[in-house]
Amino acid sequence: MIVFIGVAGAGKSVQGKLLADHFGLPWISTGELLRMFIAGERRQRMLKGELLKDEELYEVIDPMLKVVCKYGELVLDGFPRTIPQANWLVELGEEIKHPIRCIIHLEASEEIVKKRLLARGRPDDTEEGISERFREYEKNTKPIIYHYEELGIPVIHVSAEGKESEISEKIITQVKSYVS
Ligand code: AMP
Repeated sequence: MIVFIGVAGAGKSVQGKLLADHFGLPWISTGELLRMFIAGERRQRMLKGELLKDEELYEVIDPMLKVVCKYGELVLDGFPRTIPQANWLVELGEEIKHPIRCIIHLEASEEIVKKRLLARGRPDDTEEGISERFREYEKNTKPIIYHYEELGIPVIHVSAEGKESEISEKIITQVKSYVS
């Protein structure tokens, strides 16, 4: 598994898909999966920019990862977003014999992501929704990077500012040594 971590608007999906296409791997985004599967009150929470509960994520992602991993490696985007999710993923990776090979940390400032998200205009891309997701990211998701580093999982830090193709090249060059 190759895992992308970065705040909403950093370009995880674009870069995740480019990387997956380069290595011929599947790309799974939990945001996309949830928008396909989740209805009612949980969908409303998503639209406000709130994170769903860890258990709500496991229910959707566990069967999906088990199916996809049968065919080899994969690129994961949008998960984990909390420390319990991060630990759950380490365990699942061992269980399905596709441990986390490396993390790609896409770094972007709040100013840049705000500009990008407002231009994208998804229903949760309001000023309020964006600020909420930035806060969630700083509080719950960023600590995962240091946690994984402490566990000895390689973390690749890449600036998300610049041309998409140049960022992609940088990522591919560094990921090569971790994908056989
Ligand atoms: P994204 O498309 O990655 O920006 O995700 C959209 C929304 O889906 C997020 O704002 C959350 O409400 C929900 N979501 C996606 N992935 C997760 C996750 N790993 N944990 C909790 N909520 C998530």
